[in-house]
Amino acid sequence: MNSEKCAVCDGDMEHAYLPMKEWKIDGHLCGDCYSKKLSEFYPGDHVRVDLSDN
Ligand SMILES: [Zn+2]
Repeated sequence: MNSEKCAVCDGDMEHAYLPMKEWKIDGHLCGDCYSKKLSEFYPGDHVRVDLSDN
């Protein structure tokens, strides 16, 4: 049983995702919030985390 709530939306989590430390979030994220945060921080590409200059 997993009774932990998402740190962002306070919803139930089927899977708990660990936030990146630069997101400054305490706790875990649900899949929805994790994807949203990914697209906020890394717009355009959810998969590749590329720190090279554009
Ligand atoms: Zn959430």
